[in-house]
Amino acid sequence: MKYSYLVYLASVLCFCSCQQVKSSEESQRMVAIDSTFVEKQLATLASDEFEGRKPFSAGETKTINYLKTIFESLGLAPGNGDSYFQPVPMVKITGYPDETLAIKGKGGSFVLKYPNDFVTYTEKPESLVQLNNSELVFCGYGIVAPEYGWNDYEGIDMRGKTAVVMINDPGFQAEDSTLFKGNTMTYYGRWTYKYEEAARQGAAGCLIIHETNAAGYPWFVIKSSWSGGKLNLESNTPKCEVQGWISLTAASNVFKASGIEGGKFLERAKTKGFKPIPLGVNISTKVRNELERNTSNNVVGIIKGEEKPDEYIIYTAHWDHFGIGEPVAGDSIYNGALDNATGTAGLLGIAKAFTSMPKKPKRSVVFLAVTAEEQGLLGSAYYAENPIYAPEQTVANINIDGMNYYGATRDISIVGLGQSDMDDLATAEAKKQGRYVRPDSQPEKGFFFRSDQFNFAKVGIPVLYINGGTDHKTKGETYVKALQDDFTANHYHRPSDHYNPATWDLSGMMEDAQLLFNLGYGLSNSSQYPQWKEGSEFKDKRKNLKD
Ligand SMILES: [Zn+2]
Repeated sequence: MKYSYLVYLASVLCFCSCQQVKSSEESQRMVAIDSTFVEKQLATLASDEFEGRKPFSAGETKTINYLKTIFESLGLAPGNGDSYFQPVPMVKITGYPDETLAIKGKGGSFVLKYPNDFVTYTEKPESLVQLNNSELVFCGYGIVAPEYGWNDYEGIDMRGKTAVVMINDPGFQAEDSTLFKGNTMTYYGRWTYKYEEAARQGAAGCLIIHETNAAGYPWFVIKSSWSGGKLNLESNTPKCEVQGWISLTAASNVFKASGIEGGKFLERAKTKGFKPIPLGVNISTKVRNELERNTSNNVVGIIKGEEKPDEYIIYTAHWDHFGIGEPVAGDSIYNGALDNATGTAGLLGIAKAFTSMPKKPKRSVVFLAVTAEEQGLLGSAYYAENPIYAPEQTVANINIDGMNYYGATRDISIVGLGQSDMDDLATAEAKKQGRYVRPDSQPEKGFFFRSDQFNFAKVGIPVLYINGGTDHKTKGETYVKALQDDFTANHYHRPSDHYNPATWDLSGMMEDAQLLFNLGYGLSNSSQYPQWKEGSEFKDKRKNLKD
């Protein structure tokens, strides 16, 4: 007994130490991110010379040609046939809505006034869109979610009708973590989803009832965001004629005109088995549109895999920002240093590390710098609708949007933690760096749906989106939080989002880039297809793809 126990013990010990040797050899073999190179890319892309990298501007031409030159110099092959560019046709729609929205019912007629009671717009590139006596139907949260057994459109034909729906999802403030994902917003809670689902149902219109808490922002944000021109993709996906928002007060008046007490029905929308409720009132309104067409570009390079060149890992970072705009304190160039010169520089650094490895990866690795993220994730949406590489053979997407400039941290934050196996891979890599993982600190805000990885998730491709940590290695959490708060309040989407070599500490950024490289390199040499977790709203989408 004793002898065999010792043998057993010895074999266990041997197994452990051999494993350790193997993994330390593996980590030694990993090329380090070239921090001098990455810093140079950041400084270049964030410089005034690049004019804030706005789609269609001289700044775009400069940026995409620069990225192409770097891709070439690193030895990446052109990612789109023999080109490094994927043209992204877009249309700018500037809407001029009717001043009023007319409501007619048995109980009389009245009008809602733009822009205090409602805003309307369209994503259809047409010079005129309208609702003509379209019947209003209250469709609860406007959600069809088979994994929760939920269908707010059950048993109704929406053609020609207008859906009135609530923002967020039934789990919001329900204090029930089993109702959807409780306070963590699911994709079904996003306004983009509401319009997409209404369009899939064939509805002519969709109006979202605004409520400050559930939306996360007050009515004036709706007013300012939905006036003026907006860029859209030239796309074949169905769209409603008219989309919009109505204020909570306006919605209450509409419910009253229908002879229905609003509050009760809003409550009922939170319960399973809710059925759509025709309101017995019709609405009419128009939006005239000015259309302007133009083409921007995604930039794409590839390292072809040695053994499985038809399986792909795609790194993304958006190259665009806001260009030259309204001056603030005498500065009119919106450099977008953090957002997203850091991510683009990080992507280039990771590409350089891949090309510096002695052995080529087994699977192909794609580097995709996308356009027009700031205009609504359009470059990545275009790629997802017009993929260059088969989605069912795309193993994963790793997205970088804004990297850490305040120094090395003990932690990293995974946005949307728990969605897929990618999070476990990232957790394991963080551990190897002696770091720990924490979830996104504001899950109710739905940040997972607000950068480019989301468009990959939507077509079923597992994604990873990390944020820099907040637990600074020597200065602790309050130090980082103060810097982050200052950035949000004073520099986010402003000309002062500058690169400052004197105050920025890029050690954390390099460590995060190393983590993303190590993870992607590991995946590029494995046969694993990471999966969505049980309960993820994207799991069903992947079913159609390869397991
Ligand atoms: Zn960004």
